[in-house]
Amino acid sequence: MAATRIDGKALAAKLKEEVRAQAEALPRRPGLAVVLVGDDPASRVYVTSKRKDCEECGFYSEEYALPAATTQKQLLDLVGELNGRGDIDGILVQLPLPRGLDEQEVLLAIDPAKDVDCFHPYNVGQLTIGAPVFQPCTPGGVMEMLKEHGIDPAGKRCVVLGRSNIVGKPMALLLLHAHGTVVMCHSKTPDLKELAASADILVSAVGKTGLVTADMVKEGAVVIDVAMNRNEAGKLCGDVCFDEAAEKASYITPVPGGVGPMTRAMLMKNTLTAAKLHQGVK
Ligand code: NAP
Repeated sequence: MAATRIDGKALAAKLKEEVRAQAEALPRRPGLAVVLVGDDPASRVYVTSKRKDCEECGFYSEEYALPAATTQKQLLDLVGELNGRGDIDGILVQLPLPRGLDEQEVLLAIDPAKDVDCFHPYNVGQLTIGAPVFQPCTPGGVMEMLKEHGIDPAGKRCVVLGRSNIVGKPMALLLLHAHGTVVMCHSKTPDLKELAASADILVSAVGKTGLVTADMVKEGAVVIDVAMNRNEAGKLCGDVCFDEAAEKASYITPVPGGVGPMTRAMLMKNTLTAAKLHQGVK
């Protein structure tokens, strides 16, 4: 069986177009502030692409590139200032922060109504009880992909590899709220292969190239590869051995061109949601 390749790039473009149309109808255009501390090259790439996404969606955007030597107080002061701005709907602090800065304290300082990354404990709590204000960007993007292809997690066995706060945990929650039967696996899971091979929907978010081999994919399974790794040749790749997994799966996401663009599109959707919230628009 040759799997259908889920095109995240095309779906993200469609989603951003919808966001743009809704943003145009607002009294004030949505505003996003992106804060980057230090000079991590990967983070710089992400920040540049977020600016481009904002332009495509007709958003106002501001970028703060702070030196690695920025103090916790300076960063908190900036977050406080952005919290108070009427033209800024979303605040994104690019992670990871340089060593010496307290990430958790910074995330806690962001006004939950501007927390478009959905990392603040308030928003994580809302998500946990099934009443999210914002969608966690990467898992939310995965859910959009499933919806687009008519894949309903209800009654399905969903296996999530990875349990990070950014991907694995919120992914499991969204699948659970969509009535999937969810199994979470991590580095201490002894029978990972068997569990993965039992999945109707398999989501891999580990960060290990070549982790998911064909024997871990059930015939007809939906395989979602969240990972963004670099192989030995420096090429971007996921956790899944794509060619062999695609022989057995019904649907599969590529890397690049799969979940990555959807994560970015969901950030735009969340910024739109925040702008509607701030402008009292339903
Ligand atoms: P992370 O914080 O490092 O978490 C990795 C998770 O994988 C942990 O829960 C870890 O278990 C688990 N793990 C490690 N080795 C394992 C193994 N051999 N078997 C099973 N589980 C194992 O990473 P993350 O931030 O969640 O990111 C995961 C991947 O997704 C990375 O490749 C990252 O680049 C990518 N990513 C992509 C997007 C996107 O937009 N596409 C967004 C975010 C992240 P323990 O908890 O036991 O340590």
